[in-house]
Amino acid sequence: MDSADQFRFTHLPHAAPTPAARRAELLADPGFGRVFTDHMAVVRYKEGQGWHNPTIEARAPISLDPAAAVLHYAQEIFEGMKAYRAADGAVVMFRPDANARRFRESAERMAMAPVPDALFLQAVRELVRTDRDWIPEGENASLYLRPFMIASEAFLGVKPSSEYLFIVIASPVGAYFSAGAVTVWVSEDYTRAAPGGTGAAKCGGNYAASLLAQREAKAHGCDQVLFLDAAEHRWIEEMGGMNIFFVMDDSTLVTPPLGTILPGITRDTILTLARDRGLTVREDAYSIDQCYQDAAAGRLKEVFACGTAAVVTPIGRLRGRRGEIVIGSGNGADPVTETLRTALIGIQRGKAPDPHGWVQRVG
Ligand SMILES: *Cc1c(COP(=O)(O)O)cnc(C)c1O
Repeated sequence: MDSADQFRFTHLPHAAPTPAARRAELLADPGFGRVFTDHMAVVRYKEGQGWHNPTIEARAPISLDPAAAVLHYAQEIFEGMKAYRAADGAVVMFRPDANARRFRESAERMAMAPVPDALFLQAVRELVRTDRDWIPEGENASLYLRPFMIASEAFLGVKPSSEYLFIVIASPVGAYFSAGAVTVWVSEDYTRAAPGGTGAAKCGGNYAASLLAQREAKAHGCDQVLFLDAAEHRWIEEMGGMNIFFVMDDSTLVTPPLGTILPGITRDTILTLARDRGLTVREDAYSIDQCYQDAAAGRLKEVFACGTAAVVTPIGRLRGRRGEIVIGSGNGADPVTETLRTALIGIQRGKAPDPHGWVQRVG
């Protein structure tokens, strides 16, 4: 327990946890999102009863009634966050309170029962403590945490579910992208989110809608897709699961404003880190035409993607119907991106001072 723990989780430890030698093998090269720890946190909700029966139990398939609302109407939300082993051996998390708040806001948008922030945070902490031996060592390694919530009421009427399951699973991960810069496909046919829609909620449906565009990106030899706005097909929004930043020749940073994009915690952190370093930051609409013009004129120096999974990943090329542009050196070793990436990782891993109080010890 720590002083922030207010709920009594029942611990039902795994009867046959992964042997240490096998775990070490898995942790040596976990990839991204394929290896999972032994346990999960589960909390149930029922209208009239509220959130109840918080448990840490063996990670196992869950059983759902085939009429469960999530399977029909996609009432589902999730989060993505990481636990790290800090330089001094402590287990730390980065801005977990921001994930708790966003999870609550996503729930509200999807008409789901919000998980109280304290319950969300304790579920994550209890799971991390239980499976702390699964946190991999190494520069790019971490324990990726996936809190999610599904509508579990068995009812085919279209209405908000009266029952939910909130679950947290954990996956030791290495780097999301292999080293170097990525190439991004500018999607002109598909959009991700419209005004008034669910673009700002971290819901599975947004990803389902992005997969065809992501497949098109792959077919064009690209790593990721970049979406434009739904109304005019002009304004750059974000990538499939990451926000985007542009670095101009006067060292100004430009990133699309909030609204239809996902309000990334990494995005917010980068804005602060850039301001701390005296850079000018603008949250302004930036059109794809202007972007191509600025690149051709040498005004656009660097572009990078950011998110919990991708951290800060340089973008070396944009490819699309209007052709291909190479950004900066094209190989991603550009100074502003590198400065911000190093600053972010330094704080996350407890190697640099944390003036904003972003890092929290878990155990
Ligand atoms: C999760 C996510 C991001 C990044 O958010 P972080 O809080 O920085 O991890 C960006 N875009 C989309 C669509 C996302 O789902």
